[in-house]
This record gives sequence, C-alpha cells and structure tokens, in this order.
Amino acid sequence: MPFTSLGLDPALLRQLHTHGYHTPTPIQHEAIPLILAGNDVLATAQTGSGKTAAYCLPLLQNWLAASAGQRPMTLILLPTRELAQQVGDTLQQLASHLSAPKIVVAYGGVSINPQLMALRGGADFVIATPGRLLDLLDNNALTLSGIRTLVLDEADRLLEQGFADELGRILALLPAQHQKLLFSATFAANVQKLAHTLMPAARRISITDSQPDIHQRAIEVDNARRSALLCQLIRQYDWPQLIVFVASKHGAAELAQTLQREDIRAAALHGELAQGRRERVLDNLKSGNLRVIIATDLAARGIDIPTLPAVINFDLPRSPQDYTHRIGRTGRAGESGLAISLIDADSRAHFRLIEKRLQLSIPRERIAGFEPLDQPSPRLLSSDDNGGIKGSRPSKKDKLRAAAAARGES
Ligand code: AMP
Repeated sequence: MPFTSLGLDPALLRQLHTHGYHTPTPIQHEAIPLILAGNDVLATAQTGSGKTAAYCLPLLQNWLAASAGQRPMTLILLPTRELAQQVGDTLQQLASHLSAPKIVVAYGGVSINPQLMALRGGADFVIATPGRLLDLLDNNALTLSGIRTLVLDEADRLLEQGFADELGRILALLPAQHQKLLFSATFAANVQKLAHTLMPAARRISITDSQPDIHQRAIEVDNARRSALLCQLIRQYDWPQLIVFVASKHGAAELAQTLQREDIRAAALHGELAQGRRERVLDNLKSGNLRVIIATDLAARGIDIPTLPAVINFDLPRSPQDYTHRIGRTGRAGESGLAISLIDADSRAHFRLIEKRLQLSIPRERIAGFEPLDQPSPRLLSSDDNGGIKGSRPSKKDKLRAAAAARGES
C-alpha cells in the first residue's frame, strides 16, 4: 500500500519521494493514521522498523495544518544523544522545503549555552534527553505547558538507563491534556507499568512481522587469532561498511590500529571520544571514507546506518539484550544482514547462555587455518557455566532497580 493512502499532505508525500521512501513500513502503515486522528499510541517496534518517520510524519502534518500562532509544540524524549541527533536529522530532512518548523535538539555532554540560545523565542519540536531537558527547564529556557504531543522514543531504554526519576519530573510539568506516543523495542514490565499509568486508553500497535532478516553465524577461533581471522573475513567478504563490537575502549583503539596496519580503513568509536570526533567517525563511515568502525556497546547505541551489511562480535556482548541490540544494526529497513560472533574457548559457555536466553541455535563453524586449539581456562571450567553473563545473578544495578520497584517507583 502506498503512502498516498495514509492521509498525508502532498507536501510531505513529495518529501518522502525525494528521500526515496516509496512504501510505508508496517509501523508507519499502522501508526500514521492513528496519530493523525489524535490517539494516544503505544507501539512496540524495533529500531530499524521506520518508527522515527512513523511519528515524525503525522506530527509534521499536524504542525503544517495549524495556522500560524496556533502551531502545536512537540516534545520528543529519548535516551541518548546519538538517537537525539538521528531523530533531529530525520525530522529536519522530512521538514526541509516545508515552511520550516523550528527544531531544537538538546542533549548532555556538551555546553548548554548554544541550546539555551536555540530555545530563545520557543521551538516547535524539542528533541531531548531527560537530564538535559531538566537543566534547560531549570534555566527557564522553555516551559512545557504548551506541549501538545509527547513522544517517548525507546521508552524501554529510557527506563533502563535510570531516567525514571527525571521522566516523572518532566511528566508532572506537562499540561493535563496532551497526546502521548510511546515507542519501545520491548513491552517489558516497567514499560507496561509506565504505559498503564500514563496512557490507559492508548491504541496498541505491535509490529511482529517486521523481524529483520539477519543471518547469524558463530565462528570458533582461538583468542589470539581473532584479529587475523577478522582481517581475513574483511578481505574475503569485501563489506563496504562494517561495525566490529568490542568490550572496552582500549580493545577498540588497539584493534583499530591492528586493522590500520593491515591497510584497512578503520577507526575506534567509544564513549570517551569527544562528541565531535564521534560524529566525524560516523560521518566517515557513512560517506565511505572509513570502512570499519570498532565500537563499544555504549558508543553504538542509537547508530543508524541504513545500509550496514554486517556486524561482527569480536568480543561477545555482556547480555542477551546487548546481543539483540548489536545485531539489530544490520538488516534494517528491509535489507538482509549478517551478524558474525567470534567464539573463543573462554566465551563458549557465555555464548551458549545468550543463545538459550534468546532461544537461538546457531551452528558453530570453523575456518580452515583458524581451527581453535585452546581449552577453556580452569577458572571457567569450575564455574557454574554461566560465562559471567549479565542476568545470571542480579548485578548491583539490578538490585538497585529491584529496590526502587519495591518502593513503587516507576
Ligand atoms: P528507524 O526505525 O526510524 O531508526 O528507521 C530505520 C531506517 O529506515 C532509517 O534509515 C530510515 O531512513 C529508513 N526508513 C524509514 N522509513 C522508510 C521507508 N518507508 N522506506 C525506506 N526506508 C525507510
């Protein structure tokens, strides 16, 4: 079914065409008419499903339809600055050539002054992380009393990353009547609780048939031979773009250097790089100046590279959730993707647990010339075979969360 059937303004349809969006994704197909009709919407949809445009398009349309002076104000809350920038970019793209709504993107980790300046005279769309929004409110840079629509994007991660308190403070400042749109990759208990109190009459959308087509592989290799195998795979498959996930920033920097020595254009992306540098690394990958990014989980949150053909887990992720998140960087927007995990002797048990939790069964492969010889270290053989996986026992953070839940905090 084409976009024309969704009741969108011709100006927006032209924008979509210019950006190569010809057919709505399932979430867009379901959400756009509901949002245009003014409903609260609770949608379970993964990053990569086209959810950003699913809410940006109808909100832009409502903005266009209102007369000057009556234009609605929208607040979009999300968990990370990368996601904030990405949503800001999408909104800007979809709004370019329209009569220019004012879009302000605000996140922490950078000077607040330009954001304070940007908010002078108000804004039509404020896209913000919760902590920085509260700082801006404390500085009287904006008021929330005029908000007509609130979007909570990646609500599960907003709650996961300890934003529950901030969220509560922000919600208390919103007007009694406003449209609420909540998007979440999962419908975990904390999201259900938030949705239940915030939007009891919401229309529910669950996109189950948008499972991306990701071929998952697991290659057994000795720890010390992983870099050599990685170089061989990069040469063999000749991927134009690749993200390799590692466990630490040191690991990222080291592996980037190893690849550079092999004449592979690679750069590290980790949380300690300055914001400007992180943006340049991503831009260089998108433009083809770089071929490989070596990323930590934290840095990779919110990355949107539509054509990414493959990801490689050089180090395994700590949790099954991180595994899902990592492999979700490939196979987006209808493209098929490939996710390869390198398994050494010490991570075999850990990978088995990730598979068990995610109900996966991925055949183990060996590559000629890289057959593993190592045995698991004695420390692991005597352990309870959980490979140190997050979730096997409650971590300190889990316990804090459980205590907060017991106190009835959302
Ligand atoms: P999102 O789930 O919002 O992160 O979107 C994932 C990717 O899909 C982004 O790169 C979008 O540019 C792209 N995308 C969103 N909607 C469409 C569409 N209808 N047709 C083609 N690509 C799309």
